[in-house]
Amino acid sequence: MNGARINTDGRLGVMLTELRLPTMKRLAAESCDQADRESWPARRLLEHLFEQEMAEREVRRFDRHRAQSGLVVDKRLSTFDFTAVPAISKAQITALAEGYDWLDHGSNILAFGPPGSGKSHLLNGIGHALIDAGKRVLFTRCSELVQRLQGARRDLRLANELARLDRFDLLILDDISYVRKDQAETSVLFELIAERYERKSIAITANTPFSRWSEVFVDAAMTIAAIDRLVHHAIILEMNAESYRRRTAQADVSKARAAKKPAPASSEVGT
Ligand code: ADP
Ligand code: MG
Repeated sequence: MNGARINTDGRLGVMLTELRLPTMKRLAAESCDQADRESWPARRLLEHLFEQEMAEREVRRFDRHRAQSGLVVDKRLSTFDFTAVPAISKAQITALAEGYDWLDHGSNILAFGPPGSGKSHLLNGIGHALIDAGKRVLFTRCSELVQRLQGARRDLRLANELARLDRFDLLILDDISYVRKDQAETSVLFELIAERYERKSIAITANTPFSRWSEVFVDAAMTIAAIDRLVHHAIILEMNAESYRRRTAQADVSKARAAKKPAPASSEVGT
């Protein structure tokens, strides 16, 4: 029996709720009991409760940042098979994920490769690692962001929207090549690039080379100006890998075939 147990539904509880200290509220009764039992000095009790609140607050912050990031939960660097993309060095990617100089200087990442070569997975993985390190990351389809910025421009809120994106240390724009031609008629994507230039990083995935980017921007001059800003401080990842989807699908088919009895040879039709 513990008659002295404090009631955190009472006055203390109300105050801790008002002050937004949920962890202290949850732990107060138990910690006060322990402090009484073990004759802690008052300072130790206060430190203990504040430490717990701060630790959980940090966890809540990371969870919130991850939830707001748009990153796919299971696309991590730990599940990325680097042997499938010999052109990409694991050491280089680890360095990007663990050292943040490039973010401080607003350097960019440009990842090129055919569909299925692992661009989105790799950038998701980098994004998760950066969130683990306390950075803010937003992963979005490029066409969706363009649409949102166009809406903002129509409502005369473009500057606000760009400022809102400023809190992200890294913006990952997936599939720039899928920005539709009619979207190109406004220059919001260029404005975003120009606004972040040398300040805040952008990562872009593309399955078409720069020579095809004229379809993404309003005109040739703007295309050159955008590419110029993006590549000035950039890490370029050429993922000339075979489609991972196709590879794993082929491996599955081979496995399934091997598991079956050998099928009779099919007659090939000559041409
Ligand atoms: P892209 O963005 O280049 O079209 P994705 O990153 O979407 O390719 O990859 C296609 C699928 O294959 C995804 O499910 C992804 O997780 C997987 N994948 C691609 N490359 C790798 C890899 N190197 N290791 C593990 N999974 C991969
Ligand atoms: Mg992709």
